[in-house]
Amino acid sequence: MRVGVVGAGILGLAVARQVGLVVEGAEVCVFEKEGRVGAHQTGRNSGVVHAGLYYVPGSLKARLCRRGAGLLRAYCRERGLAYAEVGKVVVARDGRELDGLAAIEERARANGVPGLRRLDAAALRDVEPHAAGVAALHSPATAIVDFGAVARAFAEDVETAGGTIRLGQEVTGLRRDGTRVRVLTPGGEHTFDRVVVCAGLQSDRVARMAGDAAEPAIIPFRGEYYRLTPARTDLVRGLIYPVPDPRYPFLGVHFTRRVDGGVDVGPNAVLALAREGYRRRDVRPADVLETLRWPGFGRLAARHWRTGIREVYGSAVKRAFAARARAFVPSLKAADLVPAPAGVRAQAVDADGSLVDDFRVGHLGPIVTVRNAPSPAATSSLAIAEHLTTLLLDGERTH
Ligand SMILES: Cc1cc2nc3c(=O)[nH]c(=O)nc-3n(C[C@H](O)[C@H](O)[C@H](O)COP(=O)(O)OP(=O)(O)OC[C@H]3O[C@@H](n4cnc5c(N)ncnc54)[C@H](O)[C@@H]3O)c2cc1C
Repeated sequence: MRVGVVGAGILGLAVARQVGLVVEGAEVCVFEKEGRVGAHQTGRNSGVVHAGLYYVPGSLKARLCRRGAGLLRAYCRERGLAYAEVGKVVVARDGRELDGLAAIEERARANGVPGLRRLDAAALRDVEPHAAGVAALHSPATAIVDFGAVARAFAEDVETAGGTIRLGQEVTGLRRDGTRVRVLTPGGEHTFDRVVVCAGLQSDRVARMAGDAAEPAIIPFRGEYYRLTPARTDLVRGLIYPVPDPRYPFLGVHFTRRVDGGVDVGPNAVLALAREGYRRRDVRPADVLETLRWPGFGRLAARHWRTGIREVYGSAVKRAFAARARAFVPSLKAADLVPAPAGVRAQAVDADGSLVDDFRVGHLGPIVTVRNAPSPAATSSLAIAEHLTTLLLDGERTH
């Protein structure tokens, strides 16, 4: 069986690896438009292995995150990759956030998150001495990794198993040809029995090339980070998160210890004016037009313009960003923050303006398309790979 994969982010590589593991004699080829693997979301995120606190019980996110976190932990141990269970606190700053915290605790318990503890203000200070809040939820199993390094290890596994990774090869067309699929690139044409599309920020465009539905479209949201200066990294031991606003799939600006010892503060969520627009000045008129033309965008903007303006203000004014973070760590000063590289989230939006919450996958005969894979998709990558491989084979014999 010949299997083609579009995209060498963590998902495309995890699927290519999984197909190599379960399909005897499979020939796997991954196409990546950039010159290296993990160049977009996979290499530009918070690096948190989520334990499964927030997700609707029974959803794909809840199931695949729980399974994926366990698989990833075992994989990192086996491959000698950094994996540190630094633990996380979700902090309620005042009494108004207690109901939100209780709702998360209920979901986390339903999802089987291990080791959960409810903390009062004093117990919070024992875990995170510089954090302030009236109560918190502590998840000691939440961990940190370098997802870029994990993706590179997956790429090695693919090649060791005899698969090919074609870097600098943009897929420009996908054609169904009977039971087979032709993949078009500027360098030539390749035929496969099965194709999986894991194209991240371009996933709607590539899925449409394959004849998949227009809905949902990707709306890019940049997530900007600051980093604590080295002298101030002792302000944070592990991970400090706010109680998220249930209207949004984004978790809010948080403090994240990184495996390199640094501490990041972010990400915010600002509409990006280019799909791969990592800087404020990056504008791609074709991308902006596509966003504006998507009927769901107008509806989304009409509902959430106040939040949008607040995010843009926090992005433009460092003091505002610092004030938001200081609500959790009162001794933080704006001077403690230096800018760090941003990421852009591929957030799927339906035509009715709703932000797609769960992972979403399309299936068109021999083609499987990942249409929404935001956080915690990196955490869940090995479990998503199992799920996609089952869909892809759909009746084929595996061993
Ligand atoms: C700011 C931010 C913070 C996050 N934090 C976390 C976190 O802490 N924990 C977590 O679990 N998740 C987190 N995520 C989410 C996580 O990073 C993503 O869910 C995950 O990386 C998605 O992987 P992917 O392979 O689908 O996408 P990507 O990594 O974006 O890969 C897609 C690849 O497809 C390639 N491609 C696109 N079009 C084509 C084409 N036509 N031809 C060939 N190649 C193509 C791209 O170049 C790219 O390399 C975060 C994301 C962001 C942006």
